[in-house]
Amino acid sequence: MSAFTRPAVRYAAVASVAVTGGYLATRSYNSNAFGCTQAHAESAPSDAKAALKKMPWKGFTELKVESVEMVNHNVKKLTFALPDNETISGIAPITSLLTQHTPEGGWIPVMRPYTPISPNDTPGQISFMVKHYPGGKGSTKMHSLVPGDTMKFKPLAELDYKPNEFSHMTFVAGGSGITPIYQLTQAIFRNPEDKTKVALLYANNTEEDILLKKEFDELAEKFPDRFSRIYTVSKTSSEGEGLYHTGYIDKAMLSKVMPNKMSERNVKVLVSGPPAMIESIAGAKGMAGWTQGSLGGILGELGYKKEEVHKF
Ligand SMILES: Cc1cc2nc3c(=O)[nH]c(=O)nc-3n(C[C@H](O)[C@H](O)[C@H](O)COP(=O)(O)OP(=O)(O)OC[C@H]3O[C@@H](n4cnc5c(N)ncnc54)[C@H](O)[C@@H]3O)c2cc1C
Repeated sequence: MSAFTRPAVRYAAVASVAVTGGYLATRSYNSNAFGCTQAHAESAPSDAKAALKKMPWKGFTELKVESVEMVNHNVKKLTFALPDNETISGIAPITSLLTQHTPEGGWIPVMRPYTPISPNDTPGQISFMVKHYPGGKGSTKMHSLVPGDTMKFKPLAELDYKPNEFSHMTFVAGGSGITPIYQLTQAIFRNPEDKTKVALLYANNTEEDILLKKEFDELAEKFPDRFSRIYTVSKTSSEGEGLYHTGYIDKAMLSKVMPNKMSERNVKVLVSGPPAMIESIAGAKGMAGWTQGSLGGILGELGYKKEEVHKF
């Protein structure tokens, strides 16, 4: 299954503004995506300790690889050391980090966003899960890194999130599109004041491709009244029978996780995955991925409104 992605040129353009101007402009849909600007205390640590928090004067920050772990056949978990053991990333959910490297023998920098999966207050470290696309410039570079190597990062705000802004959130993810969803899920459930209910529908090719399953299963056990999840895979093994749905996400599957709109009126749906998945669930994004586009797909058929859905 392909990862969620947008045209590389988009990041190159945005990032070149950042490099020259010293500030990375947020993309057009970010400003009012959730219609809010304030993150909770846990999500907005003091600037002094925050190594990667978005600040107007900050350019790229170079971090050293601390460890690399193979997660499955094409995904690695990469952990980078923050400048010292006292510092934290300090990024607010949902924030991705734009990586930048210049391929050997080339002169055009390659920039790709990856979304940290470690909590934003983890001291001294930041981790990512990166899927490898053979021939892909960004993921091949990330997969080639070994402890001691460095990579440049710059925060790229995806969405502002305010605790309890919604009574129910539905997360629909495919493949490595799970990383921003996981970042927000952690922020919600690590904040005792946030009472948001969350349902996750996560699609993959095979059971082996399901990322962060242990973490989601633990959350479902710990918060049975507030967190539920359904995994669906295109191909099952006998081992997984009973645990998983089979096939692509469809109306019946979505209806299972969607809240009852009579009891939960204040809802938000986040859809994060490959473009074909996004299109079938919520309609295609507009302007080659730059805008949210109109709402269509299954969510459109289910009567959702454009402002109730965000496409990554
Ligand atoms: C906000 C955001 C956050 C992201 N976070 C993560 C993350 O945490 N982890 C992660 O693994 N990825 C993440 N991605 C995807 C990541 O940014 C890259 O798009 C991905 O690694 C592919 O880049 P590449 O340079 O390796 O491939 P490219 O050089 O862009 O593409 C080269 C070839 O690889 C194949 N390929 C590349 N991307 C795709 C695709 N999406 N579908 C099908 N084939 C493809 C194609 O054959 C293509 O011709 C994120 C994307 C966005 C937009």
